[in-house]
Amino acid sequence: MAARLFRGSRRWWGYRCALPSRPAARCSHSGGEERLESPSAKKLTDIGIRRIFSSEHDIFRESVRKFFQEEVIPYHAEWEKAGEVSKELWEKAGKQGLLGVNIAELHGGIGGDFYSAAVVWEEQAYSNCTGPGFSLHSDIVMPYIVNYGSEEQIKHFIPQMTSGKYIGAIAMTEPGAGSDLQGVRTNAKKDGSDWILNGSKVFITNGWLSDVVLVVAVTNREAQSPAHGISLFLVESGMKGFIKGQKLQKMGLKAQDTAELFFEDVRLPASSLLGEENKGFYYLMQELPQERLLIAELAVSASEFMFEETRNYVKERKVFGKTVAHMQTVQHKLAELKTHICVTRAFVDSCLQLHEKKRLDSATASMAKYWASDLQNRVAYDCVQLHGGWGYMWEYPIAKAYVDARVQPIYGGTNEIMKELIARDIVHDK
Ligand SMILES: Cc1cc2nc3c(=O)[nH]c(=O)nc-3n(C[C@H](O)[C@H](O)[C@H](O)COP(=O)(O)OP(=O)(O)OC[C@H]3O[C@@H](n4cnc5c(N)ncnc54)[C@H](O)[C@@H]3O)c2cc1C
Repeated sequence: MAARLFRGSRRWWGYRCALPSRPAARCSHSGGEERLESPSAKKLTDIGIRRIFSSEHDIFRESVRKFFQEEVIPYHAEWEKAGEVSKELWEKAGKQGLLGVNIAELHGGIGGDFYSAAVVWEEQAYSNCTGPGFSLHSDIVMPYIVNYGSEEQIKHFIPQMTSGKYIGAIAMTEPGAGSDLQGVRTNAKKDGSDWILNGSKVFITNGWLSDVVLVVAVTNREAQSPAHGISLFLVESGMKGFIKGQKLQKMGLKAQDTAELFFEDVRLPASSLLGEENKGFYYLMQELPQERLLIAELAVSASEFMFEETRNYVKERKVFGKTVAHMQTVQHKLAELKTHICVTRAFVDSCLQLHEKKRLDSATASMAKYWASDLQNRVAYDCVQLHGGWGYMWEYPIAKAYVDARVQPIYGGTNEIMKELIARDIVHDK
């Protein structure tokens, strides 16, 4: 089933095409030619390259690229000022079939393969518009509901999230607990069959616009370790005692709504518990590799975007009667950047392949996240430098790409924590 690009043709934007009969990952280019890999492609952002994709993915990519060009780029500056994108955008994305792409149709998703979800992440990065929190909604929050939710929860949330009518968020971090999730203090206590939720969360992506928030809470303080006493709850906007604080003012990701959330005696019915009581930490550990892979993918894609933006700039900009690209030191810098990006791309693509086969382990996902997000920041630094003073001006896309890069080594588990996870695997006796 997962082999199919699109299991159904419910939303195919008029491009309906034959579904590949074997895993999309193994499809060759239409016409039998081998697909070019990034280093040999004309541009790192070209459509029709990389062997993990097929010609069906290319058609999908064209439509996603068009969506970002027409529906996101023209409005993004406005949304940066507002600190949030419009709700209307979410519904447009839903109509285009860009939300819940990798969620099975039988659960109310689109039914696309994992690579199709990656196409949406990449195209958002290539648009240099970080406002819409689509990937967190579709590829972090929705999988929890599908993987651990009851039939009733899946029926209630997934179709609405696929349509963009419901926006999802996940609330782990608290003012006093980020890296150390076992230090969470938000708690839920039983009252008959209900739960009473108290506490607060901070830095929550999509938090302001959210209709449903997956909240991490302590449910058993007496557990043998804090990890054994944590549960996940689905909390809906409008519930009494659920208060959204301010949208937080950030260095970058200015059009993305990041908020504080407060829970004051929120009465949750038993049906709000996701999966089993006290299994929350286990669920988080299962799902975090996908979140880390997503960050790595966004990081290498943003690097590809910055490289192409800078290549164009240095070929145009004149200094001392020649273009900047004429200088040998600049050419060497571009050579270094392209090499680093392409090597990282090869690793991240192999992680995408492993994950599609459900074989990506936590340490490998952590390597991808740490390496690619660090690279993104080095690329951002060098690309701004190659733009000179214009690179520091907000009107130049590279300035936005630079500030947006900074958070990537921080969220999803800091890169220091990634190294802990990688190291644990190295020294652990198997
Ligand atoms: C824009 C943005 C969006 C976010 N979105 C979300 C979201 O949607 N949902 C959510 O739940 N959270 C979200 N976060 C929170 C994010 O995941 C945390 O900020 C991150 O996990 C780090 O936690 P902290 O900020 O508490 O830092 P701390 O844990 O206080 O870390 C401070 C420093 O100590 C280091 N450190 C900590 N422990 C160790 C260790 N064992 N060894 C070595 N160094 C260590 C860290 O690496 C860091 O450098 C978001 C954050 C930002 C900035």
